[in-house]
Amino acid sequence: MTIITEKLVRQNILNVTPYSSARNEFSGNSGVFLDANENPYGRYNRYPDPDQTTLIHQIARVKNLSPESIIIGNGSDELIDLSLRVFCEPNLDKVMILTPTYGMYEVCAAIHGTPLIKIPLTEDFQIPVNDIKPYFSYKNLKIIFICSPNNPTGNLMRIKDIEYLLLNFDGIVVLDEAYIDFCDQPSFAEKISTYPNLIVLQTMSKAWGLAGLRIGIGIMHPEVITYFRKIKPPYNISSPNADIAIKALENLDLFKSRVNEIIAERNMMTLELSQMKSVKKIYPSDANFILVEVDNAPDLYQKLLKRNIIVRNRHAVIKNTIRITVGSPAENQQLIANLKEVSHG
Ligand SMILES: *Cc1c(COP(=O)(O)O)cnc(C)c1O
Repeated sequence: MTIITEKLVRQNILNVTPYSSARNEFSGNSGVFLDANENPYGRYNRYPDPDQTTLIHQIARVKNLSPESIIIGNGSDELIDLSLRVFCEPNLDKVMILTPTYGMYEVCAAIHGTPLIKIPLTEDFQIPVNDIKPYFSYKNLKIIFICSPNNPTGNLMRIKDIEYLLLNFDGIVVLDEAYIDFCDQPSFAEKISTYPNLIVLQTMSKAWGLAGLRIGIGIMHPEVITYFRKIKPPYNISSPNADIAIKALENLDLFKSRVNEIIAERNMMTLELSQMKSVKKIYPSDANFILVEVDNAPDLYQKLLKRNIIVRNRHAVIKNTIRITVGSPAENQQLIANLKEVSHG
């Protein structure tokens, strides 16, 4: 298992001595706490648990995973950033993204000084395995980011293609599963012991409806997680946010019923949209949004905006497309009605 450790992690990360907080050194619940320069008064006067033990155990229980394989980020965006910090020597190591995809991989790479290799997805937005193969031997390619279901196209990547990369690429595969709860396909999270080079990212921002809390979930081999734990900001999740997330995870029935409603609404919207002559194409979605091709996306976007309906104009990424998030039944009806009006059917 030291395969990953020695070869892929940056030398300075191996050498780093992590910050040891007062709460790391003593973490009991009762006592006279005069160790952390906290204020004795107030409701939120104590620093949060840097190990997020309760939250991690709750997530492990709900997802049927081992707590040793879970790390919490301040949104999965923080975990994308930490992945670069663990593995990529700035201005030297490279990462690959498959376009069009989620924008933060490129932004985080740019901030970190990591050159990007961009390979277009196939015409049906699948992993272009043959185009990627030549890069397996590419010096300093450390991470391939894959998003499945992909944002903004909405489709799942083929399981066998992801497994091919995991088996044949010596670097890290970061698999972003932000939308996994909206589809039937099982998560790759259960495969982290088979593939030590796999990092699965999930989030409470989408299916759990808690984007405001900033709770991202990293799932990876326990040995890989040690590097992430070593460098994450010690108090990256605030205690009220952790508490709210812990509560939410107790109500699995509510979670499931909301996800089911969103999926039903997605299917309803897909049907409605398919009957509009202004809609040229609907991309099948395994997520909580639908990518549609229209005659003139920038124009339609502006018209909807004037009516106070905000969709995502993706014209710059895929010609004449808008990405529509599935909202509440009432919101979706408003969208459909306004779409009909502005495009005359
Ligand atoms: C929304 C989204 C995220 C963001 O997750 P946070 O946990 O809110 O940071 C990550 N990846 C993809 C593909 C997303 O669409």
